[in-house]
Amino acid sequence: PPTVAFDNVVFGYDPERTILHGLSFEVPAGSRVAIVGPSGAGKSTIGRLLFRFYDPQAGRILIAGQDIAKVQQQSLREAIGIVPQDSVLFNDTLRYNIAYGREGASEGEILRAADDAAILPFIEKLPDGLETEVGERGLKLSGGEKQRVAIARTLLKGPPILLFDEATSALDSGTEQDILGTLQRVSRNHTTLAIAHRLSTISDADTILVLDDGHLEEQGRHADLLRRG
Ligand code: ADP
Ligand code: ADP
Repeated sequence: PPTVAFDNVVFGYDPERTILHGLSFEVPAGSRVAIVGPSGAGKSTIGRLLFRFYDPQAGRILIAGQDIAKVQQQSLREAIGIVPQDSVLFNDTLRYNIAYGREGASEGEILRAADDAAILPFIEKLPDGLETEVGERGLKLSGGEKQRVAIARTLLKGPPILLFDEATSALDSGTEQDILGTLQRVSRNHTTLAIAHRLSTISDADTILVLDDGHLEEQGRHADLLRRG
C-alpha cells in the first residue's frame, strides 16, 4: 500500500481566511493514522483536499510520493475508499447498494465484501437475500447496518487507501463499538486515515494527530495522549 503525505499544506476556502496553516503529516504505507480535533479544526477539509474537491494554496499532497495535483481524478477515486459519517443508500436492492461503483463484480466478490463488512449473516437471514429492497420503499436498515453496507461497498472497490470520515459519529455507543471493531479489522493492510471527533473512537491507531485550528497540536499513541490529558 502507498504512503499518504501532507507536506506544508496551506489552505483556505476564502483568501482572507486560512484554515490549514502549513499542515504536514504522513500516513506510512499500511499504517493507521487518526486525526482528532474539535469541530471546525479542519478535519473534513483534509478529506476534501485528498479527493481534490479543492486544491491547496501552497504545499503538496503526496500519494506514494506522487503529487496528487498531477494524478488523474479517476485514479485518485480508485486509490481512496471513503467511509463517511452518513452513508447514502439507494432505494434499491442490497446487491445494487454493495456493488455500486463496481457493477461488474461477481457474486463471490460481493459476498466476500459483505462478509468482511460483517453484514453477510444479516443478509443470509433475509428471504430475498441480496435482492432485498432497502430504503424508503423497502427494508429499513439501522444506522449500523447502513454503515456495514457502506463498508462492503468501499471494500468491493478494493482501494489501497481508506479514509474514515467520522464513520461512527452518527451511531449510538453500542453500535459504534461494533462498527469500530469492523473498521479496525478491514483497515489491516490498508493505509488508513481516520478522522474523528473524539479520542475514544480511534484507540487502536498507530499514531494519533491532534488538530486544532488548522495546526497539529500534538501527536502520539492513544495511551500517551490520555496521560497528557
Ligand atoms: P472539522 O471537520 O474539523 O469540523 P472543517 O474542515 O469542516 O472542520 O472546517 C474547518 C473550517 O473551515 C471551519 O471554520 C469551517 O467553518 C470552514 N469551512 C468548512 N467548509 C467551508 C466552506 N465550504 N466554505 C467556507 N468555509 C468552510
Ligand atoms: P464515484 O462514483 O467514483 O464514487 P463520487 O463523485 O461520488 O464518484 O465520489 C468520488 C470519490 O469521492 C469517491 O471515492 C467518493 O466515495 C468520495 N466522496 C464522495 N462524497 C464525498 C464527500 N462528501 N467527502 C469526501 N469524499 C467523498
